[in-house]
Formats: sequence, structure tokens, C-alpha cells
Amino acid sequence: MPGFELFGDKERKQVQDVLDSGVLMRYGFDGMRNGHWKAKELEAALAQRMQAQHVHLVSSGTAALTVALASAGVGAGDEVIMPTFTFVASFESILALGAIPVLVDVDDTLTLDPDAVEKAITPNTKVVMPVHMCGSMANLDALQSLCQKYGLLLVEDACQAIGGSYHGKPLGSIGDLGCFSFDYVKTITCGEGGAVITNTEAYYQNAHKYADHGHDHIGTDRGAEQHPFLGYNFRISELNAAVGLAQLSRLDEFIALQKRNYTILREALSSIPEVVFRRVPEGGEENYSFLSFFLPSEEVAQKAHQALGAKGVDACFYWYNNNWHYYRKWEHLTNQKSLGKLPKDVKESLPDYSKADFSASDLWVGRNISCLIKLGWTEAEMKKRAKTMLEVIQSSM
Ligand SMILES: *Cc1c(COP(=O)(O)O)cnc(C)c1O
Repeated sequence: MPGFELFGDKERKQVQDVLDSGVLMRYGFDGMRNGHWKAKELEAALAQRMQAQHVHLVSSGTAALTVALASAGVGAGDEVIMPTFTFVASFESILALGAIPVLVDVDDTLTLDPDAVEKAITPNTKVVMPVHMCGSMANLDALQSLCQKYGLLLVEDACQAIGGSYHGKPLGSIGDLGCFSFDYVKTITCGEGGAVITNTEAYYQNAHKYADHGHDHIGTDRGAEQHPFLGYNFRISELNAAVGLAQLSRLDEFIALQKRNYTILREALSSIPEVVFRRVPEGGEENYSFLSFFLPSEEVAQKAHQALGAKGVDACFYWYNNNWHYYRKWEHLTNQKSLGKLPKDVKESLPDYSKADFSASDLWVGRNISCLIKLGWTEAEMKKRAKTMLEVIQSSM
């Protein structure tokens, strides 16, 4: 997955442009810029690649989620449905706005189970926020129908799935809003960065203002701009955007490499009858950043995962015991451990997750192993890795 593996001349040239002008900020300083507007250029390039009318870059994927929700008017007391298997950024962004994260089970797609989503909808639900974990997507048709039926918004967290598609459309472009992360370990990276994409002009107008202290971005004198509503600072710098411009131009090259490496591994593991690959919803194409599969039981999965590590097969994850990606280790959320007091709405309405039953998620995540697919691995290395994995998994059965 990580685009940093293949930094080269394109990245160097883009960053040098910014250093040569000395303008590290995305707004203003028109005279000094030598015509370089890296954030704006990256927004235009992303809009084209993601088939979205509007793109706003921000400082991280977490900022993208926060800005997307804020732009859609999410605030105190609103409930946002999110999966039990994701990154902590999902509930961080919801809580940052005083809204309530409502955790919902995942199924064999390793993303939100639409039936479980429907059961979790209440009069306070405002958004369904699926997370396309490990390169593959939620059942977006089913979630979209639910959103239409109940008048909810669909916000896609595509931070781990850039370059994947659903019925031919880029992931992130299908919901009302979509979010990407360009942090250091993502498929394409800016060092730190993120993006919000949407086809709704009003959300875009909210997003660029909210992410820059409420600045209306009208006119050429920043100090004289108006502030139609309260905002915050989630700006990206020109240096980060410059790296992203180079990386985005290489996205298709990266996806092709991931697909080659993924396919070698998948073909090898397909010969083990007990290995069941994660379900990709019909019409979906992964971005091939991970190969995820289920083993017959939690015990076998744990044993195989340990054996893989012992044999030097790195980059395979057992998410069930992971501190950051699965609800079981989110005791800071469960116990409401915040530095200051949480808003009243959150304290009163946050479900008691110590009593929650997510056994349906456990059934899948407990049996899952996800292997990161690196860009730098050669075909020969990949074949060797596949052979070792095949042997280790077979002997763990
Ligand atoms: C990386 C990631 C984020 C957050 O992105 P940052 O840029 O690290 O803030 C959010 N959601 C998912 C699924 C991610 O993988």
C-alpha cells in the first residue's frame, strides 16, 4: 500500500517548485508564487480522477471526515452510524462535532452490514458512514437505498481504498460526501493530508470555509474576508500538496503493482480449501492494497498469524486483537476517557459499549487475516512469500 516506497524525481520536482517560490501556504501571496498553486492543482486533478465535481484538500484523513460531517450540518445530538472495524478516526471525527458514534456490526465484506445498519437507525440518525477497510468496499447499493428510505446522508470513508471502484465509479464518489487520507502509510501520500469530495455545491462551499476559520475566500485580501460561520483550521500546506500531486499522477501505476502482487498471493492461497476470501460486493473492484481472508476458526487464525510472523512473513495483520482498528480495544471510547469534560449530549447519549453485543462482527474479524500488499515487492519476492504463506497456513490447520 504505501506510496512512500516509490518516491522519485516527480515528487522531488514538485516539492522543489514550492521551495523555489518559498510560498508554503495555499492561499494568497499571488505575486511570489511563480504560478505554483499545488493545493489547487491537486484538487483539480483529484476531481478529474475521482469523477467528483468538488474537492477540498485538508490536513489529514481525520480532518476530511470531520470537515465532511461538519459540512453536512452534523452537530450535537446527531447520531452517525459507523462500523466496529475501522480506524479510531471514525469516532474521533464524530465526537469532535459533539455528535454520537453508533457502532454497528460488520459482515463478511469486513464493512458495515446493511441489515445491522437498518436496525440501528433512530429518529436521531443523520449519517451512515461506511469505511472501505483494507481496499474493499461496503455494499453501497444497499446502504444507499437505506439512506434514501430513511432520509439519511451517506459519507464514504475511502481512506484505505483510493483507486477502487463500485459499478465503475471511483470509491468515495458514490456517497453524498467521500473522504480520503494521504497520511504517510496510505496508497498515495502527501506526508500528511486528506481530501473531501462531493457533487453537492453547498457541502463544498461549507467545506472550504469550515476548514479555514470560516474564511469566505472571496476577493484578494484575506484579512478583509467575511466569516459567515464558525470554522477551524484544517488547511494543507503547499509542500504536502506538492508531494500529493506527484503521487496522484502515479496512482494507476501503484494500483497495477498492487494488483499483480495481490493476484500472485491470492492464486497461491486459493489452493487451500479452508481459506475463504473476504466478500467483495457485486460490481466492486478492490484497490488491492490488502489480501484479506477467513480461516475456519479464531484459534486457527491466531495460530496461523503467529506462525506467519515466526517465519518472517511480515505485514500480515490479525485485526481482532489490534489496538487501533477494532472496537474490542477502544476502552478510551467505552469509558469516555477524554481530557476535558465531554459535551452533555455525548455523555448522556453515547451507548454503553461495555455491554454491547458485537458477536456477529467477532465471528468474521476473529477469523480474519489481512496481508498488506507492498508496492516494492518484486514478482520473485512475491512468489517466495506466497509459497511460505501457503506452507504456514496449511500446517496451522
Ligand atoms: C488513515 C485512516 C484515516 C485517518 O487518516 P489520517 O490522515 O491518518 O488522519 C481514517 N479512516 C481510515 C479508514 C484510515 O485508514
